[in-house]
Amino acid sequence: MYLYNTATRKKDEFIPQNPQNVTMYCCGPTVYNFAHIGNLRTYIFEDLLSRTIRLRHPLTHVMNVTDVGHLVSDADDGEDKMELGAAREGKSAWDIAKFYEEKFWADYDALHCTRPTVVSRATQHIKEMIALVKTLEDKGYTYRTSDGIYYDTSKFDRYDALVGHARISGLQGGARVEMSDEKRNPTDFALWKFSPKDKKRQMEWDSPWGVGFPGWHVECSAMAMKYLGSTLDIHCGGIDHVTIHHTNEIAQSEAATGNKYVNYWVHGEFLILRSGKMSKSGGTFVTLDVLKEKGYEPLAYRYLCLGAHYRTQLEFSYESMDSAAKSLKNLRALCVQVKKDAAAPAETEKSKTWKDKFTAAMEDDLNAPKALALTWEAVRSAELSADEKLDFLTFADSILALDLFREEEAPKADIPADIQSLLDARAAARKAKDWKKSDELRDALAQAGYLVKDTPQGQQVEKK
Ligand code: AMP
Ligand code: ZN
Repeated sequence: MYLYNTATRKKDEFIPQNPQNVTMYCCGPTVYNFAHIGNLRTYIFEDLLSRTIRLRHPLTHVMNVTDVGHLVSDADDGEDKMELGAAREGKSAWDIAKFYEEKFWADYDALHCTRPTVVSRATQHIKEMIALVKTLEDKGYTYRTSDGIYYDTSKFDRYDALVGHARISGLQGGARVEMSDEKRNPTDFALWKFSPKDKKRQMEWDSPWGVGFPGWHVECSAMAMKYLGSTLDIHCGGIDHVTIHHTNEIAQSEAATGNKYVNYWVHGEFLILRSGKMSKSGGTFVTLDVLKEKGYEPLAYRYLCLGAHYRTQLEFSYESMDSAAKSLKNLRALCVQVKKDAAAPAETEKSKTWKDKFTAAMEDDLNAPKALALTWEAVRSAELSADEKLDFLTFADSILALDLFREEEAPKADIPADIQSLLDARAAARKAKDWKKSDELRDALAQAGYLVKDTPQGQQVEKK
């Protein structure tokens, strides 16, 4: 398999440390609000990666849930997103975390993303985070300011490695200009923040440095290394995390352990709106529930995401949702027909060649658009028998996870308008407890050829 590695800026052959246990860490949701479909695009790409790896290797996939410490501003000031969510909704920060995490998993499952092997909540790993900060302190990488313990990025000479020098200079002038007087370098970041003196935080813990809470970056390093060891095969996330979050994770982890933190950095591009960025703070975001309310099934959104390579920006529009929903419906109809025509899936030389082509596409830096195109080609191919097609499609759907053999629900029996009005009249009679009229109407319906049954859900009608 080849994966584009942000660290080397090229497609690298994927060579796991232990082929019997590939290790992968994915940055999870900050549970202070609903996930938007942009966030969900990232989890879909990570699911494709997880399913593709599992074709050849067992995989340990760890995902965190950020339920404390993610500040509104990357400059280490501003409020904690969790406490902000709590104030917005008049609930406790703990209730906010619980509610949005449950909602997150519901969306995740609906999109057929495979659950991680380990889900680690930040609030349950404070001990490990404090230990990591302590190690960094002992090694001389930290300093204290009035609001926390900071990482001195000038002490780590590979600090720019992930981003590259060309890009970091722009960064210093941009994202991290809001430097507090006490920070030694613009890129320094908080490892441990003290609770404010004038305000009681809902989420805070004792530490060797004073009561407070962990910085967001240290959360991921501590949890990733706890479950996966000091060197991970793969670390994923959205492209926005390259410049700060992942750069800081490398600095902390490598300074603490002396080992290379991650062999393959894999980042997904953004889903954007025509009007610009989809952002939670800006309030312009679409959730999976919004799509469902508009009548789209979640897997139509998965189909839309599969149609674009994970490293290209995807512009969201309802026109493209319509076309994804329609394509999925048509593809399923063809697959259902194959299943009806086939006796049993049969692996032959030919079907194996198609499966290999599909795997090669996915193993070429997750070329899902090509894998999807191959699926369309196979289902319509004259070269394959129905049994061979069934073999290929079953395999393809183990990666695409689009429920390809789902049958459309049979359309409800068409009820003519005059029959419907008799039914409505009978429902009204029953509501008024006019049993005589109700029976008369039932007889009238029977004469017209319709049988009515009364069920707890109301009248059910069947053509005789
Ligand atoms: P968050 O819950 O904001 O911490 O983000 C969860 C994941 O979604 C991270 O991997 C982000 O990089 C990613 N992400 C955020 N916005 C977008 C977007 N518009 N498109 C794709 N991924 C995104
Ligand atoms: Zn992270």
